[in-house]
Amino acid sequence: MMWDGIIIGGGLAGLVAGIRAQERGKQVLLISEGAGSLTFAAGVLDFGRMEELQAQENHPYALLGEQAVRDAFRYLIGLCPVYHGEWGRPQAVLTPLGMLRQADLVPFRLDASPLAGAREIILMAPEGLKDFFPEVVKTNLQKQFPGAAVRLQRLRVEEFTNWHRVGKPVPATVYAKFWCTRQGALTLQNLLQETALEVRSGLNPVMVIPGLSSAFCPGLAQTLDKAPWPVVEVTSFPPSPAGQGLYETLKEEFRALGGELLIGSGVGRVEIESQAVRRVIVKSRGKETAFAARAFVLATGGLFGRGITVSPTEVREAVFGLPLYVPAEWSGSAFLGEQPYARTGIAVDDRLRPRHPISRELLLTNVHVAGRMLAHWDPWLERCGGGVSLASGFLAGELL
Ligand SMILES: Cc1cc2nc3c(=O)[nH]c(=O)nc-3n(C[C@H](O)[C@H](O)[C@H](O)COP(=O)(O)OP(=O)(O)OC[C@H]3O[C@@H](n4cnc5c(N)ncnc54)[C@H](O)[C@@H]3O)c2cc1C
Repeated sequence: MMWDGIIIGGGLAGLVAGIRAQERGKQVLLISEGAGSLTFAAGVLDFGRMEELQAQENHPYALLGEQAVRDAFRYLIGLCPVYHGEWGRPQAVLTPLGMLRQADLVPFRLDASPLAGAREIILMAPEGLKDFFPEVVKTNLQKQFPGAAVRLQRLRVEEFTNWHRVGKPVPATVYAKFWCTRQGALTLQNLLQETALEVRSGLNPVMVIPGLSSAFCPGLAQTLDKAPWPVVEVTSFPPSPAGQGLYETLKEEFRALGGELLIGSGVGRVEIESQAVRRVIVKSRGKETAFAARAFVLATGGLFGRGITVSPTEVREAVFGLPLYVPAEWSGSAFLGEQPYARTGIAVDDRLRPRHPISRELLLTNVHVAGRMLAHWDPWLERCGGGVSLASGFLAGELL
């Protein structure tokens, strides 16, 4: 079979490219080794400072242009309406340590703005929740909201008794899965009723609950809608329930549009003729299978996604062996300062096709590069990880 497009990599960029191409009536196969970094990320999307970034000569935003990034912003809200955001007006969310930070697209209830008016904050502390430090969160909330009394309320869930007995911490994604069951929603409903007896409504109480993501669980969202006060959720250290929720939503959408997903095996080899990729070869359980397409998207996630591999002698693009832009200085010495290697990636033309980083010669005519594989940007320093991956994935889907 000849596919219209094959997408290599099923993270944010690859999935959005696949969805967009399917919407345009294309027949797409998406091949992905793993789940991608969405499941690690907090589930909120950052777009960074558009004006500053598009002024950098080689930055992906300079290639894409502001309108395309704005369109991608709106597109995600259409795809996943539990996300809220207004272009250029970032919202506050709580980090896992209880600090406020800004983000551009935020799933419903991660928006921390209700805290601003609270005079009482009830901080729920689910027993054994992994990477959650209730006293630290309480102290940080108290510092940031000095006008509110922060009350810690410990919460024991029967379901996890065996975990507690053996001293095993419960990951946020496991807690979130439980809250999303009927039993979990009932437990939470009872807890809200018990707590209501102790809360004085004149204090504008707000409840903070870590380890769940109601935006991706309609039953739970209904329970929390009935709470007598606003409930604010907390972003998690990886793996994160909201990131997982976004990943699953995008995957389902791609499938619902008729896209074909092959997850668990990566592209190991490719066949190229006259500057065009003809077939990609996937090895699974000792057997090689070849897939042919007219065009391809390379969205293999850069250094983190294993699309770029580093050895003592070489920095290598793993699928096509494409030459990479590699900064002259690999790393910086300042703690939490700029790390130049983050900008390593593939230089592209305005159709996201790979070109040589120095000669600028076009290298492959039917491949479009998206997301973290692109050169000349730094998601950590510039806080635009979601924006670049989403907008370049969207464009790749338009070009397939
Ligand atoms: C820990 C963490 C936290 C983050 N937090 C935020 C945040 O708060 N806000 C924000 O906006 N952004 C955040 N980001 C960045 C953002 O998530 C990324 O920019 C974006 O998800 C990258 O998407 P991608 O599709 O390019 O790559 P990835 O999500 O890495 O996906 C790459 C995919 O390619 C697959 N793959 C690799 N090699 C092959 C192969 N040979 N064959 C087939 N498949 C292959 C991988 O298995 C993976 O599924 C975070 C990233 C990380 C890692």
